[in-house]
Amino acid sequence: MERIGIRAVAMLMFGAPGSGKGTISKLLVEIFGLPHVSTGDIFRENVKNGTPLGNQVKAVMDSGGLVSDELVNRIVADRLARPDCARGFILDGYPRTLDQGRFLAEEVGSLGLEPLVLNLETDYNVIVSRLMARRSCPKCGAVYNVVSLRPKVDGVCDACGTGLIIRDDDREEVIRQRFDAYDRQTAPLVEFFRKSGVKLFSVDGNTGTPEAKAEEAAKLISAE
Ligand code: ADP
Repeated sequence: MERIGIRAVAMLMFGAPGSGKGTISKLLVEIFGLPHVSTGDIFRENVKNGTPLGNQVKAVMDSGGLVSDELVNRIVADRLARPDCARGFILDGYPRTLDQGRFLAEEVGSLGLEPLVLNLETDYNVIVSRLMARRSCPKCGAVYNVVSLRPKVDGVCDACGTGLIIRDDDREEVIRQRFDAYDRQTAPLVEFFRKSGVKLFSVDGNTGTPEAKAEEAAKLISAE
């Protein structure tokens, strides 16, 4: 994929759980050469390593709930203060509530970055069928899909040979909860940023490969 230079931006990725936001964020990270800050990845890494933070958030994550604003805000502020974020970053999975949005708007302002929002618009039914097909490796974290990204041997991780599992938060009742939480708490944030005068870019998340969607987003953003 073509590498594109970009001004110092705080790129905020929005999309319901399962919209492909994580994958597209990683592709945009390659295209723009900016660091990827994913609160979900930070928490999962801590759970995996059994850190005090991981132990604190595990139960909430498994139930499909949200970690408290106070805790997430603190973790994000620490991360954004590191030198690699000085010339911009791509935020994925944060902010998720209005309170987090207000906190972030101040952080971005004090870092002197230009905020912009990328909204991946995806239908609920498309998301359910995608997430129910997802399988993860509990050992190395590789992610597969029984429809679109099958492992070489059914149910076994290509990379390390471990048996694949369905992540606790990819079960249908949990998917519904996460989607409802997104609709109620996070979708209004797009409106919050729009009203604050932040530039908003929308991409259709229902069809097309992640690569095509990332390229489309990158073109929209860099054309500005
Ligand atoms: P998804 O798989 O829904 O995209 P993530 O990978 O971003 O979710 O995050 C996994 C879990 O980590 C969430 O379900 C939530 O419990 C917690 N989490 C991540 N980011 C946040 C946030 N900004 N606010 C509160 N909780 C969060």
